[in-house]
Amino acid sequence: MSPFPKSTVLGYPRIGPRRELKRALESYWDGRSTRAELDQVGAEIRERTWRGLAELGLEGLPSNTFSLYDQVLDTAVLLGAVPARYREADDPYFAMARGTAGPVTAQRSSVSGGTWGAKPPEGLAPLRMTKWFDTNYHYIVPEIGPETVFKLDAGKPLAEVREARALGFETRPVVVGPVTFLLLAGALDRLDDVLGCYEELLSTLAAEGVEWLQLDEPALVGDRTPDELDAVATAYERLGALGARPGLFVASYFGELGESLPVLAGTPVEAIGVDLVRGGVPGADLSGKIVVAGVVSGRDVWRTSPERALATLGAVRAAQVVVSTSCSLLHVPYDVGAEPDLEPSLKARLAFAEQKVAEVVALARAGFHGASPVDPSVALPGPVVAEGRSPYAVRAAAQAEHLRLPALPITTIGSFPQTGELRAARAALAAGTLPESDYERQVEAEIERVIRVQERLGLDVLVHGEPERNDMVQYFAEHLDGFAVTQNGWVQSYGSRCTRPPILHGDVSRPAPITVRWAAYAQSLTGKPVKGMLTGPVTIVAWSFVRDDLPLRDVVFQVADAVRDEVRDLEAAGVSIIQVDEPALRELLPLRRGAQADYLEWAVAAYRRATSGAGDRTQIHTHLCYSDADQILAAIDGLDADVTTIESARSGARILGAVGAFGRGLGPGVYDIHSPRVPGADEVEDLLRRTLGVLPVERVWVNPDCGLKTRTYEQVEASLANVVTATRRVRESL
Ligand code: GLN
Ligand code: ZN
Repeated sequence: MSPFPKSTVLGYPRIGPRRELKRALESYWDGRSTRAELDQVGAEIRERTWRGLAELGLEGLPSNTFSLYDQVLDTAVLLGAVPARYREADDPYFAMARGTAGPVTAQRSSVSGGTWGAKPPEGLAPLRMTKWFDTNYHYIVPEIGPETVFKLDAGKPLAEVREARALGFETRPVVVGPVTFLLLAGALDRLDDVLGCYEELLSTLAAEGVEWLQLDEPALVGDRTPDELDAVATAYERLGALGARPGLFVASYFGELGESLPVLAGTPVEAIGVDLVRGGVPGADLSGKIVVAGVVSGRDVWRTSPERALATLGAVRAAQVVVSTSCSLLHVPYDVGAEPDLEPSLKARLAFAEQKVAEVVALARAGFHGASPVDPSVALPGPVVAEGRSPYAVRAAAQAEHLRLPALPITTIGSFPQTGELRAARAALAAGTLPESDYERQVEAEIERVIRVQERLGLDVLVHGEPERNDMVQYFAEHLDGFAVTQNGWVQSYGSRCTRPPILHGDVSRPAPITVRWAAYAQSLTGKPVKGMLTGPVTIVAWSFVRDDLPLRDVVFQVADAVRDEVRDLEAAGVSIIQVDEPALRELLPLRRGAQADYLEWAVAAYRRATSGAGDRTQIHTHLCYSDADQILAAIDGLDADVTTIESARSGARILGAVGAFGRGLGPGVYDIHSPRVPGADEVEDLLRRTLGVLPVERVWVNPDCGLKTRTYEQVEASLANVVTATRRVRESL
């Protein structure tokens, strides 16, 4: 076994510095290019990454960190866990990731009674997708049942090793480890079978001359049961015992290993990766192990303090200490150098992926002289005012009187499709080639179109469609003081989707109303209620890179006060329903149970601070993007929103088993918007009837799983038409 390199990173962004992969994927999906053309773009991104890392002086280069969609899905393919129904698809990989479109069923479903009954809808639904630990990255949840036959397909990691070698680079393949993979799939009972594949992978890589393999086990930083810890021991005893194999590097990240560390240390693995940004220097005896020390944060955009990093590195007792990142750099943008417009004083505090690699290299060479630490400028928010909205029952009566909605009110989550013209107009506005008044007229025209579409379809609570927003967080960041936004700071969210997280670097305040003019304009066009649309304080902070000189709670409260100003101004402008989205509420939930209660308490307090300025007649909605909310149902209840819309369809309506806990209005999504597939009216009707089996009709809302901005108008209109048809059928039978 060759020695472990002195410096490395756990992974690297892969969407391309100019989002080349995004464009290539979307072109392939639209049938505008071939699979070979897509693969060519992937090869170019990989080459550029390896060359770039080597030029920066990094010694340990990772491979197989590239993915066309998701590394967990890649691992499922590696292990042969492809459910049978996808195998016949044109492209099984993307069928699992995105589903396949069936023919548009709008006309068929408007035939009263829909005669195709139990026949399954055309097209394949994608596999479930959910958040990767406490990040805003989403992975595809592997589907593993008793029928799953694991069978190694090492094509991808082998191809990347060879590809790098052809360019002159020896690499360390990275694969999700067996325990994390199975825990994510809810199938730890299949450990024995899966280990057979991992053993075969190790032998295959050894035969290829690969020296080190990185197995990612982020699940080990969470609370683990004794059985799960046994699984860790079993897995790494067994893999370690293999005769011919590469060195085993088990990487943990997103927190401290805790009770998993002595277990792992007791197995024959040679190297253990620890997150020293979120966790402390390990107390366990690691004198026989190589410690891959994550001292450069992969989760923020700030420069590393060299003094602190060197002190931490010096405190680690191990056979060898390797300088590394706290996790993959997947979660930060590529390069601060691509941001000419940022304030120089802010820029001097920033490090993106490229700069972080340079820090790792410099620390490994121990000649590091960096910027001085950030100046703390502290402005604590005032005390939380438990301001009086009346209890739900009183509000519900006032709202029913005021709003006069039909039973099972139909609404959407906020965004409508973003057209290419609008995006082009926004770019032209930013470039200064389109006058602001022209841009505003275009936005107004789009709002009018969205209002008319909804009226024509027969929806009950309308939205303005969010055409003025590039993104639900960035838009607010651009209008609040204390934030900076980047030009090229894209971070992958899922598949081809990226966000550009704003950088929250100072005290936050709202200099002027933000959304009021658009909401008021939309309301002026229609007699139906228009729902104002805001992003909540936790989500704004969760999807930004946040200053690290103040407790997170205090930063969130500052943002809550800004949102509160906006809620009050919307209400004053005559908007009677206001949605404050908190899709990221669960995302910031600490991975360790011990820290969760405190977080939930202040997160809920921040939401109430943002919304409790509204009067009883004003209906507050919230939206959450996931349904496996079990852990935080009490907290969602604590938000005290009048109506909560939540994903349901994509997750097979499992949420319906838990809705007893909701004492207020609830809209479990009736169809999955993540897939281009148009749901049939029968399908929607069925979900609605199931919902009515568990919730009183007065509290049920009808809506899709999430916002519609990633779909086309054609898909949206066909889907919503079926939703209206289904709702009318159910209403008639009430
Ligand atoms: N209102 C937002 C939209 O519809 C909500 C998006 C989200 O939940 N992520 O786009
Ligand atoms: Zn959502």
